[in-house]
Amino acid sequence: MANEILRKAFLAHVGQTSPSPMMIEVERAEGVFFYTPEGKPYYDLVAGVSVSNVGHANPAVVKAVQEQAAKYMHVMVYGEMVERPQVEYATRIASLLPGDIDSVYFLSTGAEAVEGALKLAKRYTARREIISMRRAYHGSTHGAMTLMGSPEGEEWKGAFRPLMPDVRSIEFNDFGQLSEITERTACVIAEPVQGEAGVRPPKEGYLAALRKRCDEVGALLIFDEIQTGFGRTGEMFASLKYGITPDIVCMAKSLGGGMPLGAFAARREVMNTLTHNPVLGHITTFGGHPVCCAAGLAALDYLEQNNIVGQVEAKGALYEELLSDHPAVCEIRRSGLLLAVELGTSERMFRMMELFAEKGIMSDWFLFCDTAFRISPPLVISEEEIRDSVRIIRDCLDQLA
Ligand code: PLP
Repeated sequence: MANEILRKAFLAHVGQTSPSPMMIEVERAEGVFFYTPEGKPYYDLVAGVSVSNVGHANPAVVKAVQEQAAKYMHVMVYGEMVERPQVEYATRIASLLPGDIDSVYFLSTGAEAVEGALKLAKRYTARREIISMRRAYHGSTHGAMTLMGSPEGEEWKGAFRPLMPDVRSIEFNDFGQLSEITERTACVIAEPVQGEAGVRPPKEGYLAALRKRCDEVGALLIFDEIQTGFGRTGEMFASLKYGITPDIVCMAKSLGGGMPLGAFAARREVMNTLTHNPVLGHITTFGGHPVCCAAGLAALDYLEQNNIVGQVEAKGALYEELLSDHPAVCEIRRSGLLLAVELGTSERMFRMMELFAEKGIMSDWFLFCDTAFRISPPLVISEEEIRDSVRIIRDCLDQLA
């Protein structure tokens, strides 16, 4: 198909999610770049929204995918057969997760991981109420979407009501509102660093206070580490960075090394409640696909063997240092290599997107914050690539009125 026909077919036959898709055709991707058919390179400062931590076309991941695909792909619905890539990956993840969380239930996406975690919390506690944080993003399925707090979430979820009952939201980082978590509450779900709110790290002591309140009333604490997991904030998991052990951890995005993989993890005693009353408390056909698990495991090996996570904080700090003095930048919010560069107005941010597209930078904004642009590149980005991408970003910032 010629390129122009391909673009028309994209609009005609690929289900659209917005009236103005980026329409950049990708021919190939490697490291921190992707390339159009004309050979134009783009710095990928989104990493597929915190997915491609080990860089595009990482040879170790490609090899693992090829080898596993040649051995076997899907054989049976999740949880029945002993599949080596699943077992080995679950064992490794369990060794890295905080506290005594040792059981990993694999799915295919982040939203599914959240759905499974909510069901597990309801089943384990025999309670119904779920508390989420305002400006949270946990996915776009009915249950996960309900968790977007109001009023901000209404723009996204209002048209799809009725959603899940018995869900309330509180303000992230507001110590006073923790008293709204009570003996009725099955679970509280929070991103340890809020991502789509525009990168909002927790205030000193907030996650500890949240943990304490959940313990007082017997509610489970779920951390959504779908965006923060696997090194993004400078530790393998943000829960380790802040020293707080949740009851359930949700993972996805970089979990699959670029392949679709999600998971929720809990202590075995909690997880086991999904095996009875009723049996098959959660079912998935493709969850924990062997090729995706092999890819994820290879990506994790790569992170560890090359000490990638240990370099994240310095790389994030370098971006912050090189950009924060520009007069067009109002503020930079950051956790590791997850940065929101605040421009003050959405007009300026959208103008910046146009300039980025011209100059070969892939960035975007945040679901609940369209006044800031995102920098969350593959964690393997080099110092030289950081400095070079900053040179282009500063050129664009210079052109903002
Ligand atoms: N949770 C968080 C924190 C996310 O950032 C996302 C996606 O952006 C999700 C959940 C949903 O993941 P998925 O798109 O794989 O369903």
